[in-house]
Amino acid sequence: MIIDCHGHYTTSPPEHEAWRTRQIEALANGTTVPPRPSISDEQISETIRNAQLRVQRERGIDLTIFSPRAAGMGHHLGDANANALWSAECNDLIHRVVSLFPQDFIGVCQLPQAPGVNPANCIPELRRCVEELGFIGCNLNPDPSGGHWSGPPMTDRHWYPLYEALVDLDVPAMIHVSSSCNPNFHATGAHYINGDTSVFMQLLTGNLFADFPTLKFIIPHGGGAVPYHWGRYRGLAQDMKQPLLSEHLLNNVFFDTCVYHQPGAELLARVIPAKNILFASETIGAVQGIDPETGHHFDDTRRYIDGIAWLATEDKQRIFEDNARAVYPRLGARLEQQLSMQGVAS
Ligand SMILES: [Zn+2]
Repeated sequence: MIIDCHGHYTTSPPEHEAWRTRQIEALANGTTVPPRPSISDEQISETIRNAQLRVQRERGIDLTIFSPRAAGMGHHLGDANANALWSAECNDLIHRVVSLFPQDFIGVCQLPQAPGVNPANCIPELRRCVEELGFIGCNLNPDPSGGHWSGPPMTDRHWYPLYEALVDLDVPAMIHVSSSCNPNFHATGAHYINGDTSVFMQLLTGNLFADFPTLKFIIPHGGGAVPYHWGRYRGLAQDMKQPLLSEHLLNNVFFDTCVYHQPGAELLARVIPAKNILFASETIGAVQGIDPETGHHFDDTRRYIDGIAWLATEDKQRIFEDNARAVYPRLGARLEQQLSMQGVAS
């Protein structure tokens, strides 16, 4: 089975994001927020069949762990109340996708974070998504200010109530920033990669997993700059008298394969143990074009993993399937349930 742990609903019906725009305008003008948009199952089905699902099937991907559009989270745009309503709207839409295509998608939620607001405010929505909607994880924005990094690092106790809920529910968080309101940082080209790299260094500096030994984070986009600079990070940890990274972080931190070229994927697999790598493509997402050097889509990341000749078959199996089941324990339970239901049906 091939599980893509990183897909966003970037092709949602236009009414969805148009409502968010009107909501933010109403907030700014002090006027009444319009009622939530009415979107039909047919609209959802069409925007999935002709986009995400088509690509997924063309590339032989069996299941995508699917979440709301990351750049659309826009935690810096609204206050905690507005973002709570918006998160519920986004998560409900993901739940409808998963209900329409239960074999192809499983949900991960957006959290109603807001700059300067304690992330404990996200726990009710996290619980609703996991316990009522069957979601298996969340996207956690390390910088709800949208590029100004005005909040505390992720090792700070500020985040602990949310981590306690994650551990209690046995769900991981993908560390994922949203759009950037700072023109110095292009959203997908700089802000995303900065977020990944910065959080890894925060985790290296701190000792978060001593307090939360079962907490799991996925650092997407291939781990930002981390695998490429692995020697720097090992050396910094050593200078800081921190434990070896394999003990300090690699029981809790995982990287995805959203690196859009063969040499990058090979470096990732050389440097990071296979048990810490989860297959992902982030389709339909940041980079949608065709690479003129290969004739294939940049984000067709399955080709790069398949193309690593020296990588053992067992390691590819880990990357494509086994690690996702381990990092998202509720995924394994769901797949086994589906399998036993199919067994009963046949
Ligand atoms: Zn993403």
